[in-house]
Amino acid sequence: MQALEILLMENNFSVAFHVKQIFKLIVTLCCFLGVTFSSTVTEAGVISEKQEIEMGKAAAEQIEAHYGVLNDPMVTERVERIGQSLVAVCGRKNLTYTFKVLNTEDVNALACPGGHIYVFKGLLDFMPSDGELAAVLGHEIGHVVKRHTVHQIEKNMLTQMLAILAGVASGNGDVMAMGMVVSDALAAGYSRADESAADREGFDYCLKAGYSPYAMLITMHKLQEMAERYGNPGWGIFDSHPEPEKRIQNMHKLLSPLKITPNASKKADGGAFVRENFADGDWELVVRETAGGNDPYYRAELLAGALYQVKQRAKEKIDPTHFIVFEAPDKAKIYYEDMQLFVVYRQDAAGFGSIGACAGDYVEKLRIWAEKVNEKSKLQK
Ligand SMILES: [Zn+2]
Repeated sequence: MQALEILLMENNFSVAFHVKQIFKLIVTLCCFLGVTFSSTVTEAGVISEKQEIEMGKAAAEQIEAHYGVLNDPMVTERVERIGQSLVAVCGRKNLTYTFKVLNTEDVNALACPGGHIYVFKGLLDFMPSDGELAAVLGHEIGHVVKRHTVHQIEKNMLTQMLAILAGVASGNGDVMAMGMVVSDALAAGYSRADESAADREGFDYCLKAGYSPYAMLITMHKLQEMAERYGNPGWGIFDSHPEPEKRIQNMHKLLSPLKITPNASKKADGGAFVRENFADGDWELVVRETAGGNDPYYRAELLAGALYQVKQRAKEKIDPTHFIVFEAPDKAKIYYEDMQLFVVYRQDAAGFGSIGACAGDYVEKLRIWAEKVNEKSKLQK
């Protein structure tokens, strides 16, 4: 998720640079005046939660002033709803989290200490499913829960920060300077260990909140691809260490003990399988085509994750009649009740006569899968 976070800093933080000059001046002045800072060190660590919240708020104000916040209720409500569903299962619920969309076509996301989470408008186009967006937000919440930026500030900028906090303690805190310190820490990027930790946290929240278990994996593949195609912005969610391949490997390590089925795998010919093993053999569904901006493997992962969610929801039994198709002129969406499972495109329908006929064929296979799952769970009881 790092690539995104990095983007912001390089292109847009000339503002931060300017603030940095002011900040340096403040620190110099404080030193000159002989201000002492030891009184701000609290038992909870160098930076207390209250101070963390202050700093985060200051940084958030600067970021919002710089980019502007998108005012589109449909979009912002979606981001807020997904974000809060993750907060409900995270390990630091006492903070007040906010989720906002920054009005820029840049593709990135970032988190300020204290719980201000931002996605850039440009990112949303690439994250059409709630699960994918949840993976990004979960990763960012993970940074807040684990106080990564705060620790970074504590480690690298202790002296300067104490100067700022002295100001906060005395009620004379310089909001600009505080925000800049946070911006600087964000720009410096997270450590390898912090990024891996945020991935793990995000994965955990997504799973607990009921999103596709493959959401984080799908999002990582996508970010990797975007970084290759458009260039890696190098900060934020695109922060490039550990290497994307390594992050994807780590994600597979988290997934494998969970024995999530069905699973998706690549075919030698470039297509992909969704597959589940049953007593009477493998059930398989093949995705051959790249469509809707996603390659066959993405699409297979999306479907496999959605089918896992169907199993989770249908405690007793999956109703094979609850798979439904909604047809549009250029595609057909397959649902299980209100859960979207798969989108069939024109490319998929070659040899079927129509998109609807192709979707019908998929639904037939999904009904067979449902019956097999029901049979298996009956045997297990
Ligand atoms: Zn990150």
